[in-house]
Amino acid sequence: MAAIYKVEHLHQPDGWLSPGYLHVGDGGIIELVESAPPSDGSGVEPLAGFGIPGLANLHSHAFQRAMSGRTEFVSEAGAEDTFWTWRNFMYDFVLRLTPEQYEAIGAFVYMEMVRHGMTAIGEFHYVHHAPDGKRYANHSEMADRLIAAAGRAGIAMTMLPVLYAHAGVGRPPGDRQRRFIHSGVGDFLSLVEGLRSRKSENANLEVGIALHSLRAVAPAELAEAVEATLAADPKARIHIHVSEQLREVEEIEAGLGARPVQWMLDNTNLNDQWTLIHSTNIDENECRGLAKSGAVAGLCPVTEALLGDGVFPLVDYQRHGGVWGIGTDGHYTTSTAEELRMLECGQRLRDRERNRVASPGSPVTSHSGRRLFDLALEGGRRSLGIATGALTPGMRADLVLLDTGDPILIGHGPDTVLDAWILSGTTNPVRDVMVSGKWIVRDRRHPEEESITAAYKKAIGELNSSL
Ligand SMILES: [Zn+2]
Repeated sequence: MAAIYKVEHLHQPDGWLSPGYLHVGDGGIIELVESAPPSDGSGVEPLAGFGIPGLANLHSHAFQRAMSGRTEFVSEAGAEDTFWTWRNFMYDFVLRLTPEQYEAIGAFVYMEMVRHGMTAIGEFHYVHHAPDGKRYANHSEMADRLIAAAGRAGIAMTMLPVLYAHAGVGRPPGDRQRRFIHSGVGDFLSLVEGLRSRKSENANLEVGIALHSLRAVAPAELAEAVEATLAADPKARIHIHVSEQLREVEEIEAGLGARPVQWMLDNTNLNDQWTLIHSTNIDENECRGLAKSGAVAGLCPVTEALLGDGVFPLVDYQRHGGVWGIGTDGHYTTSTAEELRMLECGQRLRDRERNRVASPGSPVTSHSGRRLFDLALEGGRRSLGIATGALTPGMRADLVLLDTGDPILIGHGPDTVLDAWILSGTTNPVRDVMVSGKWIVRDRRHPEEESITAAYKKAIGELNSSL
């Protein structure tokens, strides 16, 4: 696998190399980056286009792809249509899912991510059990299905099995949540341990944990799960949904005595191993505290918009030095460009100003597309706990080539190419994708495209006919 690539324009943290020579070792790790060809006359493979790092997508519920487009209507005149009505549909939908469908949907949505330049996924996996709520014979049946799906799609995965125990603060789980619920923290931890043992046979698999939310996990359960996880794997990543909805903020404030992010700041050791998914509805103190903690704000702009969550205070959060990344969550889109565009547009609409994330200084910081992309790379890497998101020595060779001939990139050079991709047009300029040194997409073709798409269509057909 060892190879040297001459990339026409190679993204670097401080600018571009045109060309850049990328030396990739046998293990799929970048060994060297240079601006000159190898002096020993080694063979070099030329790659046209803009070579950028693959993006780590930090938040996914793969099965929700199959629900999108099915909750976009109002049911009663005058009725409030909110996140909570969407959730009722999700509960009913999830009771029908088979392991085969779960895998088929996962493989399709992950393949689509790869085709849009995402090379790693954080899967917030909570459909653990059979439709009757009992364990499958294989405790990790459903998680294994998504790990297999990621393998077929060629994407690296940080599997985040979810602890989910209650319907709300102090309230037992509802019957329709039975597929999500473990009998106790010990039962959950045995699932995590089983998954962790798979890492030795899969270089593209990382395993952390997720706590569903402060609604669904009690403080003592949270503490026990986190402590046991860090004892087994001191570098484990920990994700939690937090402050997505105003009603959730009110419920936590009433039940636990503090707003959700404030509660996390006061009661957990928030640091760079944590990702707080959404963090949408936070006050000034929470914004500052979260930024200073080193935890990642896991933003899911398109899903948050479609669920009516609110607008994350990104400008303030950045002013405090906060780190953030992007998740596609319910997968209304799997496009890096659409997610980052929605994020920037939300800030512009609220502030009635342009270029809200960029800052003067250099072409790397002053261009909105480049700045958004670079910050999302950093947050994704931190959130998923893998060496990705930069084309520098020691990192995985997760390389994406943008096609200079794509209509939206025509005439653009290194300074504006990411602005053009992220903030203009609708074509997808991703031509080739390499994950850990291995080509997955070449000339826009994914090798399993037909079989993955056929299995997805079959799964959707079955699910729709049962609705
Ligand atoms: Zn989520």
